[in-house]
Amino acid sequence: MTPSPDNIAAIATAPGRGGIGVVRVSGRDLMDIASALTGRKLTPRLATYTDFLAQNGDILDQGIALFFVAPHSYTGEEVLELQGHGGPAVLQTILQRCLELGARLAQPGEFTQRAFLNDKIDLLQAEGVADLIDATSQQAARSAVRSLQGDFSSAINSVVSGLINLRILVEATLDFPEEEGVDTLEQNGLFAKLATIQTELGRIVELSKQGQILREGAQIVLVGAPNVGKSSLLNRLAGEEIALVSEIPGTTRDAIRQELQIKGVPLHIIDTAGLRETNDVVELMGIARTQQNIERADLVLLLSDASTFKPFWDEANVIARLSPSIPRLFVHNKIDLSGRFDQEVVQGSTNHLYVSAKTGDGIDSLREKILEMIGWHNESGVFMARARHLSSLSQASKHLSAAALQLGALELMAEELRLAQLTLNQITGEFVADDLLGEIFSRFCIGK
Ligand code: GDP
Repeated sequence: MTPSPDNIAAIATAPGRGGIGVVRVSGRDLMDIASALTGRKLTPRLATYTDFLAQNGDILDQGIALFFVAPHSYTGEEVLELQGHGGPAVLQTILQRCLELGARLAQPGEFTQRAFLNDKIDLLQAEGVADLIDATSQQAARSAVRSLQGDFSSAINSVVSGLINLRILVEATLDFPEEEGVDTLEQNGLFAKLATIQTELGRIVELSKQGQILREGAQIVLVGAPNVGKSSLLNRLAGEEIALVSEIPGTTRDAIRQELQIKGVPLHIIDTAGLRETNDVVELMGIARTQQNIERADLVLLLSDASTFKPFWDEANVIARLSPSIPRLFVHNKIDLSGRFDQEVVQGSTNHLYVSAKTGDGIDSLREKILEMIGWHNESGVFMARARHLSSLSQASKHLSAAALQLGALELMAEELRLAQLTLNQITGEFVADDLLGEIFSRFCIGK
């Protein structure tokens, strides 16, 4: 694909103050911009300590300039990286100078979009870049790096190449009389090969579902009377990980919603004690949203005080609104007072765990149980899947199942295999609509 003709520039580092900050430019004929900015000719890929100059020769900043020749750069175009001091005003000045020299301000994700359009990375890898930047746990970051390195893409590509072989086999028999065609396919092991591909795809679906839990987490509703120990339990569950969560901008730690992580899996906890009667319009809107989340919860924790156990009378209202299909876990707290051991008791379809938020007894089992109940297997090698990947994977599985049923009509089997391949190719971006691309990259930050 030919590179876009215009030059784009943006501050690549996060807004605010920092030790250094980076302005990045990508496009064509950047040597001229580089010379005007630094007053010298840069040697490609060599870090050069230099002045960054205004048009009248004034020094705007001093730092490192790096020049990458096409196609050996992030975007596949010429790239100029200017590492200056990390203050918003100084970086803005350097950026302005790049704009004066003919670059335009980059759109969000435009550098990565160019990398994709220039075949430096596929769409899964590009999404891996965004996921890595957005990762809120070390596990999520590791998984995103694997996508970025191409692990998810190779898994998909391996299924695609198996499918191509199958299609070759099937299409070669289309002109045969029907029975002869089926016999030939059987001799060539087509059905065993199809089953292997289905298993391989099933494994990718499973790892992708795990990845989606890692990326999106689970909604957990916490029900319990005042003083049973809800706050104490949340603090215990979060352990040291809560510090990490509370630093993330936008995570709310108000009376109703709490965010915490267990083994890197984000949990969005709704404490129903925060749902109070109110006439405040804004608060009512928040409560309505919370109610919707409660209906979509992945797990309900019903907390009681084991030392004074009383049924959930006051909470009956909230419990009645929960769909019976949402799994429930009864947690009996304060066993240090009640004299019970930490243990798990299964009664019918419900689980009861005995813990002490105060001493920490039973908390590890509770953590494990919560993860198990939200479907997390703690596997290594999960894929950071997005909804669009899961939807394509599920469509591809349906086409494969349909193909397996089309023994009597080989041209229909060939068509189902073709559709399965097409759907998988959409995941890596080989065939993808422009508006979808626009949507994916617009969610990136500027400068990436
Ligand atoms: P909440 O109103 O449900 O959020 O309850 P809190 O977490 O504020 O706890 C209420 C009181 O119970 C506090 O004084 C806690 O220290 C105490 N508490 C919480 N969990 C335990 C526990 O496991 N054992 C004991 N002995 N006290 C606890």
